[in-house]
Amino acid sequence: MRFFSTKNKVVSVGFKDALFQGLSSDGGLFMPETIPHLGTDFFNSKLNYSECAVGMIHPFTKDDLTHSQLTDICESAFDFPIPIKELNDTDSVLELFHGPTLAFKDFAARFMAHTMSHFLENENKELTILVATSGDTGSAVANGFFNIDGIKVIILYPSNRVSTIQEKQLTTLGGNITALEIDGSFDDCQRMVKTAFQDTDLRSRLSLSSANSINVARLLPQTVYYAWAWKQYGKDIPVIFSVPSGNFGNLTAGLLANRMGIPVEKFIAATNANDTFSNFLNNGIIQNQDAIQTISNAMDVGIPSNLDRIQNLYYNDVNQVKTDISSWSFSDKATKDCIQNIRNEFEYLIDPHTAIGILGLNQYREKTNSKAKGITLSTAHPGKFSDVIEPIIKNKIPLPLSLKIAMKKEKNSIKMSKHFSELKDYLLST
Ligand SMILES: *Cc1c(COP(=O)(O)O)cnc(C)c1O
Repeated sequence: MRFFSTKNKVVSVGFKDALFQGLSSDGGLFMPETIPHLGTDFFNSKLNYSECAVGMIHPFTKDDLTHSQLTDICESAFDFPIPIKELNDTDSVLELFHGPTLAFKDFAARFMAHTMSHFLENENKELTILVATSGDTGSAVANGFFNIDGIKVIILYPSNRVSTIQEKQLTTLGGNITALEIDGSFDDCQRMVKTAFQDTDLRSRLSLSSANSINVARLLPQTVYYAWAWKQYGKDIPVIFSVPSGNFGNLTAGLLANRMGIPVEKFIAATNANDTFSNFLNNGIIQNQDAIQTISNAMDVGIPSNLDRIQNLYYNDVNQVKTDISSWSFSDKATKDCIQNIRNEFEYLIDPHTAIGILGLNQYREKTNSKAKGITLSTAHPGKFSDVIEPIIKNKIPLPLSLKIAMKKEKNSIKMSKHFSELKDYLLST
């Protein structure tokens, strides 16, 4: 399978190159040349999670990875539970937060880490992974790549805009992981990373790779849990997926899963106050805006980078996008009320991102009266956002053990301005 650049269809690379390059040298994002249709027979067959993952990912990677190599990667990457919590007859929550850093980013980060480590096994080169994070990507990537030989990870995160726990998770690993604390927003961090990739001088001197959702290798593993969730209901019934969205990598993976054969009635792109996407659906215009800070901070993205991919999947026709996706944006106040309501009604604690997803599903049902099964993707463990949640529910929430350990460690970051030149100097000096 070849992967082409969204900026120029003539530029195409194989899976391994797409994985290591991250972003195409023309600034475009890689997209698979074709999306294999597996059909509901495949999805209805009895498969465990890694078998399902191998079946879905293999068509994209088979030029570079054998079936058995991919099986090894998937078995070691996806070794944690993926429960579905049913709230009532129609609504359920897909808990994607049982990986080591307690957010859904573990799926993609662990897949990438195991895949890159496989390819680097017999090579004697040092790779630098640059990653911008709004909170959870950084820790998932850091954790996934921690102690992998030949790989250095540099994380850029916006100072004072990630939760205390997220910051501890990012800054306390040490070893091959370095955290840069940027005086700016997530969009600034993302821009710095993108600029680094387009800097030919830098790229000729360093072997750079990215682990942001600009990397197509992150999307592939994220297609699998859509299938996994759908399989619980099965029998060709379309479901609704509500996806709390920031950079829209998760949602884009859902769109790929849909084209591979998962029947979907509608995708809900649920966002916080950062409403670039719902505006786009309303008026067809992508208006870049500065990121607004909210309590669902991992989705504080003004310029979602995967919009390029979505545009590409729908031939730049917003009306086609609207047939598959609805989108609404929700305030912090609505988010807090939702956390409280879900707790009262179901004795179930959700994090602020998941709350946005649930609000999106509720809104869709109100507008359409649809009674289809609705699955909200739960993207983080509530314990990660205890500083937001505890004042809402007026109660302490117990921290999972891994978070307790991280909280006890000393933060270790390098402060930096949002000027690219400073990042470049730093990268060349280490
Ligand atoms: C990253 C993240 C999101 C947003 O996912 P995208 O793929 O960027 O849209 C939502 N929730 C949490 C907890 C996240 O960490």
